[in-house]
Amino acid sequence: MVELTPKRIAQFIEPFRVEPGSRVRLPRDFDPAGTREQSKAEAKEILAAGVGLLAEYQTRLAAQDNYGVVMVLQAMDAAGKDGTISHVMSGVNPQGVQVSSFKVPSSEDMDHDYLWRYAKKLPERGNIGIFNRSYYEEVLVVRVHPQILAAQKLPPRLKGRDIWKRRFREINDWEHYLTDQGFRFAKMFLNVSKEEQRRRFLSRIDEPEKNWKFSANDSKERAFWDDYQKAFSEVLSNTSTPWAPWYVIPADDKPFARVAAAAVLAHTMIEIDPRFPKVGPEAKAALQAAKVELEGQAPPGAAPDLIEVELAEKAAAKATEKTTGKAAAKSKGRKAKAAKG
Ligand code: AMP
Ligand code: MG
Repeated sequence: MVELTPKRIAQFIEPFRVEPGSRVRLPRDFDPAGTREQSKAEAKEILAAGVGLLAEYQTRLAAQDNYGVVMVLQAMDAAGKDGTISHVMSGVNPQGVQVSSFKVPSSEDMDHDYLWRYAKKLPERGNIGIFNRSYYEEVLVVRVHPQILAAQKLPPRLKGRDIWKRRFREINDWEHYLTDQGFRFAKMFLNVSKEEQRRRFLSRIDEPEKNWKFSANDSKERAFWDDYQKAFSEVLSNTSTPWAPWYVIPADDKPFARVAAAAVLAHTMIEIDPRFPKVGPEAKAALQAAKVELEGQAPPGAAPDLIEVELAEKAAAKATEKTTGKAAAKSKGRKAKAAKG
């Protein structure tokens, strides 16, 4: 199996990172099909190892209980948000993850500031919160459809043209504040092409078991494709920050996109580098005292500490495996030499 080092993951996702302060224009700057053959092969390798790595880091995140992770997923329809979420979820303990899907705001939501409903869904420390759509809709769908903004109950004089700049700043500030509180962001834009979206819509129409995924509204939104590309470009240009950078994930190839998304999440966890809490001398002494007590309760004939016996056996088995493995490799080498000579 491939050795998945933090450095390798960082290099793999680097091309997808939006440099803070850079001006992004879609689709010019990020190719939805931008999966070089080489990185495709790499993605396959990373797949299996990546899921295991995520699980390990999640365990540490939960044990340390200081940091939380917010995974933000934004995309056009049919870009593969749901599939990406189930893929990432396949590698983690469901107890430590909450998925929140944000739809059209309720009237209770509208009675509050626009970040209110998202703040309520932030993960606890030690957990991962996945946002299937997010507060970024407030500068995407709301921007593309001015009637949505018109219906928001904001004081009218605060709905001027400078509202988007202000919202970008508010979002950056909010993410900065949360970062300072120990919450880290993994923000991903699944970048699907217009033609691939057309293909996926058609498959939702033509394949009966996918019909449920298609809504007539989806093709209506498709008519606003260019407006969305522009709005996304603005979002990426204005809200990729050193504390919460965006990643633009090529999404025309579904398996690749899933691996890349998992890699971005893994990278975020690696940067946190959560550690198991250290057991202090007092706690160690308490463990020893409990051990002695449990050993005293062994029934007649049983080993006082059967786990200690098991661990010793395992260690011994591992040691022999290592030496016989080496011997086997040596004899293989010798045979190969003999065959050559
Ligand atoms: P889906 O995720 O496909 O089930 O669709 C959810 C719908 O809710 C999409 O059409 C979004 O554009 C819409 N939506 C999500 N957040 C907001 C928001 N803050 N304001 C208005 N519409 C939203
Ligand atoms: Mg939809």
